[in-house]
Amino acid sequence: MAEKEILVAFDDVTIEYEMKKQSLRAVKDFSLEIEKGKITAIVGESGSGKTTAVSSLLQAISTPGRVTKGHVYFYDNSQKIDVTALQGEELRSFRWEKVSMVFQASQSTLNPLMTIYDQFYETAFYHNAVGSKEEFQEKLRKLLDLVKLDSKRVLNVYPHQMSGGMKQRVMIAFALLLDPQLVILDEPTTALDVITQKYIFNQLIEINKKLGTTFILLTHDIGIVAKAADHVAVMYAGSIMEYGDVYTVFGRKMHPYTNGLIDATPSIIKSADQIEPIPGSPPDIRKLPEGCPFHPRCRHSTDLCRQQMPKTVEITDGHMICCHLYQEGGAAK
Ligand code: ADP
Ligand code: MG
Repeated sequence: MAEKEILVAFDDVTIEYEMKKQSLRAVKDFSLEIEKGKITAIVGESGSGKTTAVSSLLQAISTPGRVTKGHVYFYDNSQKIDVTALQGEELRSFRWEKVSMVFQASQSTLNPLMTIYDQFYETAFYHNAVGSKEEFQEKLRKLLDLVKLDSKRVLNVYPHQMSGGMKQRVMIAFALLLDPQLVILDEPTTALDVITQKYIFNQLIEINKKLGTTFILLTHDIGIVAKAADHVAVMYAGSIMEYGDVYTVFGRKMHPYTNGLIDATPSIIKSADQIEPIPGSPPDIRKLPEGCPFHPRCRHSTDLCRQQMPKTVEITDGHMICCHLYQEGGAAK
């Protein structure tokens, strides 16, 4: 097996939203390595901190949030960039040129008054990446071809003339415009029908294979992860509960929260009465319990879970679990 190459390392990152009355800790001690050339999914219920955690990679956490502990590193060939320290021009070129992010519901950020061509042009111009007109048009043709859109039909239209699925594909092409090494997609298909979703994920996998682009996919939908991702991090209340390759994590069914997500997901082979929602409601980070944040909803919880946050242990090579059920099976990290 080829040696794995790390592109991004989130190193013990804590992110807080400092509100008037209290400080909300949306992400806590978040450590995750993103492998180059792979699709890594971060999955968890809404509010678990996916967007906040990953936004730190672009210094794009929404106000009043900020990183209060830890670092985010980006490995650009042999150069190790501390993203948390980037400023000014360096930060500006890092965004889009190294890493781009398609934010949730970003289709609505397309400018309704500009054609798609003009919007691509504006961004490329801003980053000095237009070149000659012919080169640029050829580039757009290739990009749109990657997402299976016909440039002749798409470039001269306005956003309202396209379907949701087309707009989403335009956004993905947009994210690839400056040949970034990493593209982050935040709930890329949530508003789309199942057939269009499937189509878009097949395209992502194809782009990943063709261009070698690394992807981070944020989603609440575990079904998507199983189809599209190589690796998965399962998040709950701002912490990573389990991480590993998709086959291991879903196949071994070890962490009670991951199992809960799997059992709560409809599938073709499951009838409606076999879907078991996770009891209780998603955590409210304003009042998290002591110990493991999942304990109030966990069938296996013990006094220890109510008192102490478990350590993250490596169960087998590359399979990390944060749960008191598995503290002895691996080496504590
Ligand atoms: P996810 O992407 O998993 O749905 P988020 O990262 O959006 O989760 O949110 C994590 C937590 O941070 C939630 O409790 C959310 O309410 C809170 N949060 C997100 N953005 C802000 C903000 N701008 N101000 C205050 N709290 C926020
Ligand atoms: Mg989100």
